[in-house]
Amino acid sequence: MPSPLPPAAAKSYIEQSADRFFYSNPDKLMDSPIVKVDDKFVPLYRIVWASDIPHFCGEPDCMHEGDYEIRLDVDDSLWTNAIERDEVVQALTRWCSDPRGEERGEEPGW
Ligand SMILES: [Zn+2]
Repeated sequence: MPSPLPPAAAKSYIEQSADRFFYSNPDKLMDSPIVKVDDKFVPLYRIVWASDIPHFCGEPDCMHEGDYEIRLDVDDSLWTNAIERDEVVQALTRWCSDPRGEERGEEPGW
């Protein structure tokens, strides 16, 4: 019968796991170049642009009438409401004005 982790070890494991997703520290979440759109966590560097006005194309079967488009660099888009769109724009603004973004020549490894 497996013995449960001692409380200290369990806590450490939880913190390590959470840290990978930037949850352990709200400040870290604010700083992280990841934003949540339509229940998906999106790295800011994948975003090409965010729509200023709600989508309207007149197609009768359009699924995104009134949604705000967040364009991604993979020829795809996410669709969201005005509140999340604003959060995306704010996150992009923070990220683009982050002095650490000035670092050059170091692409993140894939
Ligand atoms: Zn449409």
